[in-house]
Amino acid sequence: SKESGRGQYHFYATEMNDRIMAQRKMTEDLRHGLAAGDFYLEYQPRFDTRMRRIRSLEALVRWAHPESGRVSPAEFIPLAEQNGLIVPLGDWILRTACQAATAWDGIGVSVNVSPVQFRDGNLVDKVREALQSSGLPGHLLELEITEGVLLEDAERAIQVLAELKTLGIKLAMDDFGTGYSSLSYLRNFPFDVIKIDRSFIMDLDTRENARAIVQAILGLGKALGLSVTAEGVETNEQLAVLTMDQCTEVQGFLLARPLKLDKVMELLAELADI
Ligand code: C2E
Ligand code: CA
Ligand code: CA
Ligand code: CA
Repeated sequence: SKESGRGQYHFYATEMNDRIMAQRKMTEDLRHGLAAGDFYLEYQPRFDTRMRRIRSLEALVRWAHPESGRVSPAEFIPLAEQNGLIVPLGDWILRTACQAATAWDGIGVSVNVSPVQFRDGNLVDKVREALQSSGLPGHLLELEITEGVLLEDAERAIQVLAELKTLGIKLAMDDFGTGYSSLSYLRNFPFDVIKIDRSFIMDLDTRENARAIVQAILGLGKALGLSVTAEGVETNEQLAVLTMDQCTEVQGFLLARPLKLDKVMELLAELADI
C-alpha cells in the first residue's frame, strides 16, 4: 500500500542518513587521528625462498582509534581516498617508511600508493623529498600500485611513472590478475615486479585453473624480465606448489605477519646472526 511504501522510503532514508553520519564522524576522526599521531606502520616481510632471505618489507598502515581500537585499512583507506585525507596520510606513510628502512642494512621497503596520491600532482616531488630527507637510496624503495592508477588518465600515469623511475625506485603492480586490462598495462608501463593477487593463491590447493593462472603469470614475468611475488601464502601446500612452479618470492601469514618496527629490528638482527 501507499502507507507501507512511504514507511519503507523513510526506513531507507534513515539508514542512508546513519551511514552518512557515520562516515562524517570517521572523517572527523581521521583528521583528528592524523594530527594526534594515532597512525603507525607495520611491515610484512617478502621472502626470497631461494636465497633464504628477506628481500624487502611492505609497509602497511595501522590506525589505533582512541574509541574503536584497531580499524582496518580496508575500511578507512577508501574513506580517506574519498575525502582527500589519503594525501597527507600517504605523505606521512612514505616518509615514515623510508626513514625506517634506512636502518635495515640494504633491505628495501615497499609502500602502497593510492590512485588519489597520483592525481594530487606532487607525488614525484614527495617521493624525491622522502628519499632525500631520509637518505634512503632510491633502489631500496618500491611503490606498489594497483591498476586504478592507470585507469583514468593513462598518458599522465605513464609520465608520472617514468619520472618516478628516474629517481631509481622500483614499481610493483599490486593485486595482479584482478583487474580488466592487467596485460596491456604490463606492456605500456615500466613495472619491475608483479604481485599475484591473494585470491589466486587462496585457490591453489583446490582449483586446477588457479594453478594454471599462477603458472602463466610466472611465465609472463620470466619472459618480460619482471620478478613475481605471490601474496597471501597461508599454507605449506600453497608454498610447496609455488616452489614447484619456481615462484621464489613469497609473502604471507605462513612466513610472517605484518610486524611493528621493533619486531622487524629483532627479526633482522636474528637473521643477521645466522
Ligand atoms: P594490499 O596492499 O593487497 O595488502 C595486503 C593485505 O593482505 C594486508 O592487509 C596484509 O596484512 C594482508 N595479508 C598479508 N598476508 C596475508 C595472508 O597470508 N592472509 C591474509 N588473509 N591476508 C594477508 P591490510 O594491512 O589489512 O591492508 C589491506 C589493504 O589496505 C591493502 O591491500 C591496501 O590496499 C590497503 N593499505 C594498507 N596499508 C596501506 C597504505 O599504507 N597505503 C595505502 N594507500 N593503502 C594501504
Ligand atoms: Ca600491497
Ligand atoms: Ca595486494
Ligand atoms: Ca588488495
